[in-house]
Amino acid sequence: MSRAAHPAGPRYADVLPGAGVSGPPADLNALVAKVWPTSAVRGEDGALRLGGVSVAALAAEHGTPAYLIDERDWRTRARAWLAAFGDFEAGEPPVHYAAKAFLSKAIARWAAEEGLGLDVCSGGELAIALAADFPAGRLTFHGNNKSVEELERALDAGVGRIVLDSFAEIDRLAELAASRGVRPRVMVRITVGVEAHTHEFIATAHEDQKFGFSLSGGSAADAVRQVLKHESLELVGIHSHIGSQIFDTAGFEVAAHRAVGLLAAIRDEYGIRLPELDLGGGLGIAYTSEDDPADAFDIVAGLKAIVGRECFGYGLQVPRLTVEPGRAISGTPGVTIYRVGTVKPLDGLRTYVSVDGGMSDNIRTALYDAAYTCVVASRVSDAPPMLARVVGKHCESGDIVVRDAWLPSDVVPGDLLAVAATGAYCRSMASNYNHALRPPVVAVLEGTSRTLVRRETEADLLALDLG
Ligand code: PLP
Repeated sequence: MSRAAHPAGPRYADVLPGAGVSGPPADLNALVAKVWPTSAVRGEDGALRLGGVSVAALAAEHGTPAYLIDERDWRTRARAWLAAFGDFEAGEPPVHYAAKAFLSKAIARWAAEEGLGLDVCSGGELAIALAADFPAGRLTFHGNNKSVEELERALDAGVGRIVLDSFAEIDRLAELAASRGVRPRVMVRITVGVEAHTHEFIATAHEDQKFGFSLSGGSAADAVRQVLKHESLELVGIHSHIGSQIFDTAGFEVAAHRAVGLLAAIRDEYGIRLPELDLGGGLGIAYTSEDDPADAFDIVAGLKAIVGRECFGYGLQVPRLTVEPGRAISGTPGVTIYRVGTVKPLDGLRTYVSVDGGMSDNIRTALYDAAYTCVVASRVSDAPPMLARVVGKHCESGDIVVRDAWLPSDVVPGDLLAVAATGAYCRSMASNYNHALRPPVVAVLEGTSRTLVRRETEADLLALDLG
């Protein structure tokens, strides 16, 4: 039957198992370097090793599922982002790690030790940062609906910057600051009308969305006017964030053009020069061998060139440029290990491989249709490849960890699977669905492992349930 005869029906290619999936890799045991942490290797016994520790040993010690983080890799990426900017004023780092990607007290300490700033967007993230003694002056506080208590806490802690996101918040913060006799540094978050080339639900700079003040609609200029009326607020700059998983600077080009245009308009109208421009996060990482993100040095060089050119065009002094990478620092150093529980071949379709976690520890596949890479981690295999779907143990058919995974056809219950690039937006978005116990976060470094966040227990669940 020709496709033209049934234009509304499914295309044959769409219903074929594995449709649109590229063929199996030449070697199923190989580790594609850009997807895995830098320390990832196969040991002599064939087991994956991270930070000099075998995942078999890690699974024995910490159980599965478990989130692993290669500490050296995390720190190296953080350093690379800072180094890409060159010199900067002490205490004013141009790179703020976005805590929403993943934050624990240890991560806040790593960020502090590496000299980064930290972007937090809730009372909880602020609490973790403060509990880790993160320098408050290097914190930026975000959010489209910060509560009065959160704003008070941020003011009392002396956070470096508060990013204003609504007219109500401008007046609310001004009042709170005045009553405390403080003058916080604030930025105005604008939406520049750029839709990053990514999934609709994680693109955040187009106009029809909850964040920021619209530039084209005029509310960004109104917000600046309103902030400037308040003696108790010190307006230091403009903030823009255009989306996630962005692989080049094209979207930033338009964003910078429009944001610098606003800085020029502010200079022309009020005779003031705002010293800062934050272009947000969203820099992409490789989840599969097909992803090809630019590295920190190329991205930062590109951003600086764009902002420099735009400022030259408007006759403006170049503002202090800052960025907020989350995933680009913590994504690749993270790996999740799972134990295979069942292997179910479906005749003529595909094989379902069930693991002991799922959408409660990684919601990104169900939420964004995210693609991941995984390998059998406890051994190598010469068996021919099979196209598998790695699924979790939750009561939901959309409970998929890796939609299309080439695995050796001899995969059996008891094998360990490792899923790459889960260091961002997995633990931080984890849930207790089906009363699952959220897995531990374990750091590996030079042959040792250390639990950063322990596994939840049934006692934790029951402690919250007051009966
Ligand atoms: N900054 C802001 C304001 C964000 O909303 C986000 C993500 O949503 C980030 C930074 C971090 O994004 P990514 O982890 O993609 O770099």
